[in-house]
Amino acid sequence: MQTDFTIQQLLDPAQSHSEAILRKCVHCGFCTATCPTYQLLGDELDSPRGRVYLIKDMLEKGRPADQKTVEHIDRCLSCLSCMTTCPSGVHYMHLVDHARAHIEQTYKRPLLDRVFRDVLALILPYPDRFRFALHLASLSKPFGKLFSAMPALKPMHAMLKLAPKKLPKKRFCKYGVFPAIGKKRYRVAIHSGCAQRVLDPDINSATVQLLTRFGVEVVVLRDEVCCGSLVHHMGREEKAEYFAVQNIKAWTKEIDGDGLDAIIITVSGCGTTIKDYGHMLRNSSQYAKTAKNISEIAKDITEFLELLELPKIKDKHDKTLAYHSACSMQHGQKIIELPRKLLRNAGFQVSEIPEGHLCCGSAGTYNIMQSGIAEQLKRRKIHNIKSVNPDIIASGNIGCITQLSTGMVIPIYHTVELLNWAYGGKLSAK
Ligand code: SF4
Ligand code: SF4
Repeated sequence: MQTDFTIQQLLDPAQSHSEAILRKCVHCGFCTATCPTYQLLGDELDSPRGRVYLIKDMLEKGRPADQKTVEHIDRCLSCLSCMTTCPSGVHYMHLVDHARAHIEQTYKRPLLDRVFRDVLALILPYPDRFRFALHLASLSKPFGKLFSAMPALKPMHAMLKLAPKKLPKKRFCKYGVFPAIGKKRYRVAIHSGCAQRVLDPDINSATVQLLTRFGVEVVVLRDEVCCGSLVHHMGREEKAEYFAVQNIKAWTKEIDGDGLDAIIITVSGCGTTIKDYGHMLRNSSQYAKTAKNISEIAKDITEFLELLELPKIKDKHDKTLAYHSACSMQHGQKIIELPRKLLRNAGFQVSEIPEGHLCCGSAGTYNIMQSGIAEQLKRRKIHNIKSVNPDIIASGNIGCITQLSTGMVIPIYHTVELLNWAYGGKLSAK
């Protein structure tokens, strides 16, 4: 694609990076075939190609974002399915991130939209605040329908619908070192996450149990924070960078102390962001190098488990499992076959879900801010899951787990919980 940025514009590293991305697009439109919003809405401007044009126009002209551009960019799930499909290697993720930051800086959203976004940014990344908010939400659930009648309050209705009826009592907030059982093979830190540790503390617990059982010393650091992806997807660059720097400092201190072989991530959405810290902070004189180092040793739990060569379990479980690959896992991190391989190795019969490339509608705060599209995608995903008639479902992202559990009764577990169970741990009822 031809671009028309001025030399002056290209002196800005963010603009020049986006210009290089735009030049790669050859307008072929292959990406439209796998874009969930184009599939549902059929509008070119809700396709990756259409959004690329909107972003190009906005950035090239150096103009503030307008309502039309914001509307179509807001409808993008950041599922990155288009990146998997694109034959030209267009890095849509960096482009849309830049567009969102530009929107945040130049567009004044309607009052209620601003309030919801501020509330989400002030609550979700902080486990204690999030836990408190979920308690309030569980008490307010009966009033949810009232909000659904008022279009401007739809996000409130969506939030109440997503909130679990009861929160787990147990909290995973143990910090410190969990020693390896037997001979120590590796030493890792786990990123215990923000929303995940509140919504389902069993996931971190299963991770620690499984790793230590296979000779890995696990550290859970008190000073690590949210990965920053929730605010990053709202275009709040400064806040996202603040979170990234806090984590980089905490992990680097540990690397310089007793050393770390890897940083283990059990939420694939966070994994995509942490693996991109190197890019996010590439222009920072203070953190560019350490951010790159952190991104290089960040691993999804399944990537690390592969290194451990877990034994093959011969006695098959009688349960049929459907594996739901989160977008951030398959498109963001390109981890596709590995979780399925580990589950099969652990004795599960793994079924493939039709239209597995399509998003379930979770996408960070998307299911709150764009609840109509999110609901349609959820229903489509559940229909596809039910078509293979599984006893249980596995996934590697708490966002998808929460989204899907609100629409069906088939139990859905994190992959690591099922692997921990298969290799001698306990599995809580869901
Ligand atoms: S990220 Fe997903 S929703 Fe957004 S343009 Fe790409 S395929 Fe479509
Ligand atoms: S598939 Fe890639 S090159 Fe083709 S239109 Fe989409 S983004 Fe552009």
